[in-house]
Amino acid sequence: MAGGEKVDYVFKVVLIGDSAVGKSQILARFARNEFSIDSKATIGVEFQTRTLVIDHKSVKAQIWDTAGQERYRAVTSAYYRGALGALLVYDITKRQSFDHIPRWLEELRGHADKNIVIMLVGNKSDLEDERAVSTEDAKEFAEKENLFFLETSALQATNVENAFQTVLTEIFKIHS
Ligand code: GDP
Ligand code: MG
Repeated sequence: MAGGEKVDYVFKVVLIGDSAVGKSQILARFARNEFSIDSKATIGVEFQTRTLVIDHKSVKAQIWDTAGQERYRAVTSAYYRGALGALLVYDITKRQSFDHIPRWLEELRGHADKNIVIMLVGNKSDLEDERAVSTEDAKEFAEKENLFFLETSALQATNVENAFQTVLTEIFKIHS
């Protein structure tokens, strides 16, 4: 988009979930197509953007990543403000990160837009041998709570694009 950069929509999407589930690497994969094995814990609230085309419109996705505030209720309301989409991330090899999902969902629903589009994301699907959360359990939870659901690997770039595309397309349908 060199030259006349025209953005038709800006959609804020937040990443939430326990520490170390891979939120920052999912974002790095989506925004810059990068991955790093020894990613440092995120410091300071930050977001990254990527502009894509949906239905011939230019849509700028503004993706927010938590600032190491993943303890329960430490994420501030400013983080959620104006968010139209969310990726609710757990690690398929860490049962606890999945068991905390209902808390994150409750917090999200308490703060965000009423029509927020939520994708439940089971990350690290490349670590099948260490799996501690079955796909069926997660799918069932997602259906019960009306969430989209995908398993991803930021490492192998599996379904990361798909997860964001789905959320952004749904937001587009609601807000365009
Ligand atoms: P965050 O705290 O949720 O932001 O998690 P990070 O993105 O910092 O990732 C935590 C750790 O998990 C890092 O060592 C990453 O390299 C690793 N990681 C992230 N995504 C994946 C993945 O898809 N597969 C594997 N095997 N490791 C991952
Ligand atoms: Mg992080």
